[in-house]
Amino acid sequence: MPCPAFEDLILEYCEDGLAAAQRGRVEEHVAECPACRAFLELQRELDSALREAIGKPEPSAAFHQRILRRVASEAEEPRSWVPLILDAVGYSAIAALGSVVIQVSFTPAQFAWLMMGASAIFLWWLSWQSLREGL
Ligand SMILES: [Zn+2]
Repeated sequence: MPCPAFEDLILEYCEDGLAAAQRGRVEEHVAECPACRAFLELQRELDSALREAIGKPEPSAAFHQRILRRVASEAEEPRSWVPLILDAVGYSAIAALGSVVIQVSFTPAQFAWLMMGASAIFLWWLSWQSLREGL
């Protein structure tokens, strides 16, 4: 039986889950404690037996091909600014027309409140768009 204080540390040591300082502690202890050394050797044997029995999981060849195709198609896709500029022109025209219509039908104070509300909605929409497109 390994020392209780080192049992978990040795298991993590086998999985490369320890920081350098803790690794050093385990190595020092194992060098002078036969029970823990035997436990570590047993864990290593179990690990390698398990690895041999199960084998390393590999993605299928089809998966690899799919990734390569997608990367290639995304690289070829031309990125144009024209649709973005047309969108911006269209939205600006609608906003300008809307603000003229609203301006003639409300008092300046009402208009100011409306513009603040519209700006808030626009900012919300803008952040939602960039979130959606992962920008
Ligand atoms: Zn020990």
